[in-house]
Amino acid sequence: MTAPKTLCIIYGVMNLKLYLRELREMIEDRELKLSLPMDPLEFQGDMFTPAVTPAFRLLLHREGTNITVTGELDGKWSVQCWRCLQPSAIALDVTFEDTWFLKASDEGAEDFLASAFVEGDGESINVLEYGREVLLEHLPMRVFCRTDCLGLCSVCGANLNVEACNCSKRDIDPRLAVLGRLLNDKGGVRDGTT
Ligand SMILES: [Zn+2]
Ligand SMILES: [Zn+2]
Repeated sequence: MTAPKTLCIIYGVMNLKLYLRELREMIEDRELKLSLPMDPLEFQGDMFTPAVTPAFRLLLHREGTNITVTGELDGKWSVQCWRCLQPSAIALDVTFEDTWFLKASDEGAEDFLASAFVEGDGESINVLEYGREVLLEHLPMRVFCRTDCLGLCSVCGANLNVEACNCSKRDIDPRLAVLGRLLNDKGGVRDGTT
Protein backbone atom coordinates (compact mmCIF):
# COMPACT_ATOMS: atom_id res chain seq x y z
CA MET A 1 0.00 0.00 0.00
CA THR A 2 2.99 2.33 -0.16
CA ALA A 3 3.39 2.75 -3.92
CA PRO A 4 1.91 6.04 -5.16
CA LYS A 5 -1.30 5.31 -6.97
CA THR A 6 -2.14 8.82 -7.99
CA LEU A 7 -1.07 8.45 -11.59
CA CYS A 8 -3.70 5.82 -12.12
CA ILE A 9 -6.43 8.23 -11.38
CA ILE A 10 -4.92 11.03 -13.42
CA TYR A 11 -5.14 8.81 -16.44
CA GLY A 12 -8.43 7.31 -15.35
CA VAL A 13 -7.14 3.81 -15.78
CA MET A 14 -8.15 1.52 -13.01
CA ASN A 15 -7.71 2.69 -9.50
CA LEU A 16 -10.44 5.18 -8.61
CA LYS A 17 -8.81 6.17 -5.35
CA LEU A 18 -7.17 9.32 -4.07
CA TYR A 19 -4.93 8.89 -1.08
CA LEU A 20 -5.31 11.48 1.63
CA ARG A 21 -1.68 11.25 2.71
CA GLU A 22 -0.71 12.33 -0.83
CA LEU A 23 -3.21 15.15 -0.81
CA ARG A 24 -1.75 16.40 2.46
CA GLU A 25 1.60 16.80 0.74
CA MET A 26 0.24 18.17 -2.50
CA ILE A 27 2.00 21.36 -3.54
CA GLU A 28 0.75 22.06 -7.04
CA ASP A 29 -2.86 22.05 -8.08
CA ARG A 30 -3.95 18.78 -9.56
CA GLU A 31 -6.49 18.22 -12.27
CA LEU A 32 -8.22 14.89 -12.68
CA LYS A 33 -10.24 13.99 -15.74
CA LEU A 34 -11.82 10.62 -15.98
CA SER A 35 -14.80 8.65 -17.16
CA LEU A 36 -16.83 7.39 -14.25
CA PRO A 37 -18.17 3.86 -14.71
CA MET A 38 -21.31 4.58 -12.72
CA ASP A 39 -24.07 2.09 -12.04
CA PRO A 40 -27.73 3.04 -12.35
CA LEU A 41 -28.67 5.27 -9.48
CA GLU A 42 -31.96 5.28 -7.62
CA PHE A 43 -33.25 8.65 -6.50
CA GLN A 44 -36.70 9.41 -5.08
CA GLY A 45 -38.05 6.19 -6.55
CA ASP A 46 -36.66 6.90 -10.04
CA MET A 47 -33.85 4.94 -11.63
CA PHE A 48 -31.28 7.07 -13.44
CA THR A 49 -29.29 4.92 -15.86
CA PRO A 50 -26.22 6.38 -17.57
CA ALA A 51 -26.80 6.64 -21.32
CA VAL A 52 -23.12 7.50 -21.77
CA THR A 53 -20.27 7.13 -19.29
CA PRO A 54 -20.27 10.33 -17.24
CA ALA A 55 -17.24 12.60 -17.55
CA PHE A 56 -15.80 13.73 -14.24
CA ARG A 57 -13.36 16.60 -13.85
CA LEU A 58 -11.88 17.65 -10.53
CA LEU A 59 -9.54 20.52 -9.85
CA LEU A 60 -7.83 20.09 -6.48
CA HIS A 61 -6.17 22.96 -4.70
CA ARG A 62 -4.61 22.63 -1.29
CA GLU A 63 -5.01 25.39 1.27
CA GLY A 64 -3.31 24.47 4.49
CA THR A 65 -4.92 21.28 5.69
CA ASN A 66 -7.91 21.59 3.36
CA ILE A 67 -8.38 20.75 -0.28
CA THR A 68 -10.77 22.95 -2.19
CA VAL A 69 -12.43 21.03 -4.95
CA THR A 70 -13.95 22.52 -8.07
CA GLY A 71 -15.59 20.02 -10.31
CA GLU A 72 -17.82 19.13 -13.20
CA LEU A 73 -19.82 16.01 -13.79
CA ASP A 74 -21.35 15.77 -17.26
CA GLY A 75 -23.58 12.95 -18.30
CA LYS A 76 -26.70 11.79 -20.07
CA TRP A 77 -29.23 9.80 -18.15
CA SER A 78 -32.15 7.65 -19.05
CA VAL A 79 -35.08 7.88 -16.67
CA GLN A 80 -38.82 7.30 -16.74
CA CYS A 81 -41.00 10.31 -17.52
CA TRP A 82 -42.88 11.24 -14.41
CA ARG A 83 -46.18 11.70 -16.26
CA CYS A 84 -46.32 9.16 -19.09
CA LEU A 85 -43.84 6.63 -17.64
CA GLN A 86 -41.99 6.34 -20.95
CA PRO A 87 -38.18 6.27 -21.04
CA SER A 88 -36.83 9.76 -21.29
CA ALA A 89 -33.29 11.12 -21.68
CA ILE A 90 -31.82 14.08 -19.85
CA ALA A 91 -28.42 15.70 -20.10
CA LEU A 92 -27.01 16.97 -16.81
CA ASP A 93 -23.94 19.17 -16.66
CA VAL A 94 -23.25 19.62 -12.98
CA THR A 95 -20.70 22.07 -11.60
CA PHE A 96 -19.86 22.07 -7.92
CA GLU A 97 -17.46 23.29 -5.26
CA ASP A 98 -16.51 21.37 -2.18
CA THR A 99 -13.96 21.18 0.60
CA TRP A 100 -12.11 18.10 1.73
CA PHE A 101 -10.72 18.20 5.24
CA LEU A 102 -7.42 16.45 5.65
CA LYS A 103 -6.76 17.09 9.30
CA ALA A 104 -9.03 15.22 11.67
CA SER A 105 -9.05 18.01 14.24
CA ASP A 106 -10.24 20.70 11.81
CA GLU A 107 -13.79 21.95 12.03
CA GLY A 108 -15.93 19.99 9.60
CA ALA A 109 -13.44 17.16 9.34
CA GLU A 110 -15.57 14.77 11.34
CA ASP A 111 -18.45 14.89 8.86
CA PHE A 112 -16.10 14.67 5.93
CA LEU A 113 -14.24 11.65 7.30
CA ALA A 114 -17.55 9.95 8.03
CA SER A 115 -18.64 10.32 4.39
CA ALA A 116 -19.35 7.16 2.45
CA PHE A 117 -16.70 8.05 -0.13
CA VAL A 118 -13.92 8.25 2.48
CA GLU A 119 -12.51 4.79 2.96
CA GLY A 120 -10.21 3.02 5.37
CA ASP A 121 -10.53 5.39 8.32
CA GLY A 122 -9.51 8.44 6.30
CA GLU A 123 -6.99 6.67 4.13
CA SER A 124 -8.44 7.32 0.71
CA ILE A 125 -11.28 8.85 -1.27
CA ASN A 126 -13.28 6.59 -3.53
CA VAL A 127 -13.76 8.83 -6.55
CA LEU A 128 -16.58 6.76 -7.99
CA GLU A 129 -18.50 6.99 -4.73
CA TYR A 130 -17.74 10.69 -4.54
CA GLY A 131 -19.15 11.19 -8.03
CA ARG A 132 -22.28 9.32 -6.99
CA GLU A 133 -22.73 11.60 -4.02
CA VAL A 134 -22.21 14.72 -6.15
CA LEU A 135 -24.78 13.48 -8.62
CA LEU A 136 -27.34 12.65 -5.94
CA GLU A 137 -27.21 16.26 -4.80
CA HIS A 138 -27.99 17.52 -8.30
CA LEU A 139 -30.56 15.13 -9.73
CA PRO A 140 -33.91 16.70 -10.61
CA MET A 141 -36.93 15.70 -8.54
CA ARG A 142 -39.06 15.11 -11.62
CA VAL A 143 -38.15 14.37 -15.19
CA PHE A 144 -40.58 14.85 -18.05
CA CYS A 145 -40.12 13.51 -21.57
CA ARG A 146 -41.15 16.99 -22.71
CA THR A 147 -42.48 20.00 -20.87
CA ASP A 148 -46.00 19.57 -22.28
CA CYS A 149 -46.20 15.81 -21.76
CA LEU A 150 -49.88 14.90 -21.55
CA GLY A 151 -49.33 11.86 -19.36
CA LEU A 152 -51.59 8.86 -19.13
CA CYS A 153 -55.39 8.79 -19.21
CA SER A 154 -56.52 8.46 -15.63
CA VAL A 155 -59.17 5.92 -16.65
CA CYS A 156 -57.78 3.62 -19.32
CA GLY A 157 -54.09 4.35 -18.96
CA ALA A 158 -53.63 5.34 -22.61
CA ASN A 159 -50.55 7.41 -23.32
CA LEU A 160 -52.20 10.69 -24.34
CA ASN A 161 -49.06 11.80 -26.17
CA VAL A 162 -49.62 9.13 -28.79
CA GLU A 163 -53.33 8.36 -28.72
CA ALA A 164 -56.56 10.03 -27.78
CA CYS A 165 -59.16 8.15 -25.83
CA ASN A 166 -62.85 8.81 -25.28
CA CYS A 167 -63.25 7.75 -21.73
CA SER A 168 -61.94 10.71 -19.80
CA LYS A 169 -64.56 13.23 -20.90
CA ARG A 170 -67.64 11.08 -21.27
CA ASP A 171 -67.55 8.44 -18.64
CA ILE A 172 -66.62 10.38 -15.56
CA ASP A 173 -68.38 12.93 -13.49
CA PRO A 174 -66.39 16.13 -14.18
CA ARG A 175 -65.55 16.46 -10.49
CA LEU A 176 -64.09 12.97 -10.50
CA ALA A 177 -62.21 13.74 -13.68
CA VAL A 178 -60.48 16.58 -11.90
CA LEU A 179 -59.72 14.27 -9.02
CA GLY A 180 -58.44 11.63 -11.40
CA ARG A 181 -56.12 14.14 -12.98
CA LEU A 182 -54.85 15.23 -9.59
CA LEU A 183 -54.21 11.65 -8.61
CA ASN A 184 -52.49 11.03 -11.89
CA ASP A 185 -50.24 14.01 -11.31
CA LYS A 186 -49.43 12.77 -7.84
CA GLY A 187 -48.07 9.46 -8.88
CA GLY A 188 -50.04 7.58 -11.46
CA VAL A 189 -53.12 6.33 -9.61
CA ARG A 190 -55.35 5.50 -12.51
CA ASP A 191 -58.21 3.45 -11.17
CA GLY A 192 -60.16 5.98 -9.19
CA THR A 193 -63.41 5.61 -11.11
CA THR A 194 -66.71 4.18 -9.94
ZN1 LIG B 1 -43.94 11.95 -20.72
ZN1 LIG C 1 -58.79 6.83 -21.45
